[in-house]
Amino acid sequence: MRRYPEGYEIMAPMAEGSVTDVIGNDESTALRADGSGAASDPQPTLDSSGDSLTEAAYYRIRAMILGGELPIGGPVSVNALAATFGMSRSPVRSAVERLTSERLVRRTDGGAAVAAPNQHDLLDALAVRAPLEGLAARLAAPHIDDLTLARLNEIHSRFVNAVNTEDPGNARRTDLEFHQAIQILSANDCLIDTLERVQMQVILAAYSTAWTSSKRQAVLEHSRILDALAQQDGESAERAAIRHIHNLTGRVLDEWKRSATAAPTRPRF
Ligand SMILES: [Zn+2]
Repeated sequence: MRRYPEGYEIMAPMAEGSVTDVIGNDESTALRADGSGAASDPQPTLDSSGDSLTEAAYYRIRAMILGGELPIGGPVSVNALAATFGMSRSPVRSAVERLTSERLVRRTDGGAAVAAPNQHDLLDALAVRAPLEGLAARLAAPHIDDLTLARLNEIHSRFVNAVNTEDPGNARRTDLEFHQAIQILSANDCLIDTLERVQMQVILAAYSTAWTSSKRQAVLEHSRILDALAQQDGESAERAAIRHIHNLTGRVLDEWKRSATAAPTRPRF
């Protein structure tokens, strides 16, 4: 069974607060809600291997970015991070280069900074995410059995409960958990890795664009994906997943229009 980068496996409950949603993000959005990432980060063996140190530095810096500890547009100092981690500069520099290639960090005249995606970047990421989520659902359908279906239903129930109790943090986490569970069921590592990168872009972009979105509609859309998966109907699951992300994009655009013309009260749901 594939291990997810956060140490998450499909049948293992995701650690509370380890991952937030990429749907309906608000200012608190972070891959790890507490910003530390330490509890659920993979713990590579810290031997003398440069690769292991680079891997450790990569996940720590990424968690700091997605958790907001390193703010949007703020400097990413190899020297400061190396001192914080108690490492030499070389693995930290390699980690920063990797994050640059993933567009979470950008180069500046004096070094590097956390990327600052705009609304256009968010729409770009969502446009890529839609067909990929559809593909994940289609590929997952043949792998659905009683156990995996029960797991998806359990995640969905927690999502519904979070929405009904107006708990945006849990709604975000369980929403992303639902999508990641389907992705892992696709059993396509290339797709899973690509979707993870896209999701990180969505998370980071959402920081600087400050949008929220209706979750109640998302509950219905998740139900449709789930119904199709329960039937092992890959084509219907694909259509439902694509429609879900397209509808989400529409809700984001509507909210931007509202926030541009109305009083700045931001709905939580
Ligand atoms: Zn969703």
